[in-house]
Amino acid sequence: MKKLIVGNWKMNGSTEMASQLVSGIAAGKIDNADVCVCPPYVFLCGIAAAAKQAGIAIGAQDCAYYPKSGAYTGDISASMVKDIGCRYVILGHSERRQYHAESNEVVKNKALRVHEEGLIAVICVGETDAEREAGEHISVVIMQLMESIPETASGANLVIAYEPVWAIGTGKTATEEDVAEMHGIIRRFVNEKLDNPEQVRILYGGSVKPENAASLLAVPHVDGALVGGASLKADQFLAIIAGAA
Ligand code: PEP
Repeated sequence: MKKLIVGNWKMNGSTEMASQLVSGIAAGKIDNADVCVCPPYVFLCGIAAAAKQAGIAIGAQDCAYYPKSGAYTGDISASMVKDIGCRYVILGHSERRQYHAESNEVVKNKALRVHEEGLIAVICVGETDAEREAGEHISVVIMQLMESIPETASGANLVIAYEPVWAIGTGKTATEEDVAEMHGIIRRFVNEKLDNPEQVRILYGGSVKPENAASLLAVPHVDGALVGGASLKADQFLAIIAGAA
């Protein structure tokens, strides 16, 4: 299976920037990896056609806890993001867990909504600095996996992103040994608990850059990357995609 490189634009961009960024990625993209970009909701419609033509999947950075439609002011449902062409939905990003108090239970329910629509949930897990210092990183991640992944998950509709919180947007990257250890543990969990486990891709995220992409993507059980800051520049994102060769 090809590696998967997902760009999480977070709360960045404008109509103009979104369209230029997608054109830039389309112009330089090689076919060695599956690629997905996740802009803010408001830019999804504007880039959907160009991304589709270039073979770039689009994804949302979150979705509502609630089903399809209704009186939920400000929310965007999984069925709506499907309607505009999304294939992936990122869930449980540490910034959602931190700034919106999203628990594992909330993440699990959102993943159910995503699966109901036939979309792929990219469920993020990862320990904080304090949890790693206390030697709790493995138990924290296992608990997040157990509590955030719904019974509907299988190789067909789940991607897991291991993102140590202390490495996100900080320029600090986990060592290859740390990544290998955690990805091995997550791979064992997936193999034991899910149907078609070999199809579940386990991404690493946390300050992935052109300079470290190839070595991180070569670590055993690293099936791709979730990229924040470096996904906002076409040349950097393309260099990371090339690192998946
Ligand atoms: C992320 O947003 O998921 C992320 C990993 O960010 P960064 O690459 O900027 O650390």
